[in-house]
Amino acid sequence: MLIAVMALQGAFIEHEKVLNKLGVKAFEIRQKKDLERDFDGLILPGGESTVQGKLLRELEMYDEVKKMIEDGIPVLGTCAGLILLAEKLFEDNTSHLATLPVTVKRNAYGRQIGSFYTEQNFGNIGVVPMTFIRAPYIESVSNGVEVLAKVNGNIVGVRYKNQIGISFHPELDNDTKIHKMFVDMVKNFKLRKAA
Ligand code: GLN
Repeated sequence: MLIAVMALQGAFIEHEKVLNKLGVKAFEIRQKKDLERDFDGLILPGGESTVQGKLLRELEMYDEVKKMIEDGIPVLGTCAGLILLAEKLFEDNTSHLATLPVTVKRNAYGRQIGSFYTEQNFGNIGVVPMTFIRAPYIESVSNGVEVLAKVNGNIVGVRYKNQIGISFHPELDNDTKIHKMFVDMVKNFKLRKAA
C-alpha cells in the first residue's frame, strides 16, 4: 500500500510520520508528474486552503486530483484539506475540489483565538484527541453524508463514500486511530479494486 500526501503547503510531514508509525509507505505530491505514481490513497493536509487551492490550479493538478477522487480513490482531508474537498463554503463563493457534499465554514471559531484542544468520540473508533487551529466546521451536510464527530453541537468529522473530512489536526497528537481508520478504508478499496 502506498499513500500520497499532498505536499504543497501546510502540515504534510506530520501525516507522513503517523503513516510511518503505522508501517504504511507514503510519498509527497509536489508537482503534476508525482500524480503518475500508482498510489492507493490520498491525504490533503491542513494549512491555508486559499494557498493550497491556488497551487493545485497553478501546478495544473486540479482536474486530475478531482477526477481521481470522483473515481473513488480514498481521501482524508484535514482542516484546510476539508475546505478543499467541500462542495460549498459558507457565505463564500469560492470552492476548490468540491467533491464532498457539505457546506464548510472557514475560521469558524474566529481567526485569532480559534485554537483549542478537546477529546471526543469519533465515529466507531472511540475517543480521540482533537487539536483545532483556526479551524473550520461543517455547517451542513447533504443526504448520504455520515456525521462522525461533533464538538459543542458543530460537525467536525464526516464520511461520504471514499472521503473523510475533518476539522481538526489528527496528525498533531499522539493517537493513530484516525489514520488507522483511513488506512483500513484504503485496504478495503484496494481489495475491491483487485476483485
Ligand atoms: N484557516 C485555514 C483555512 O481557512 C485552515 C486552518 C488549518 O488548516 N489549520 O484554510
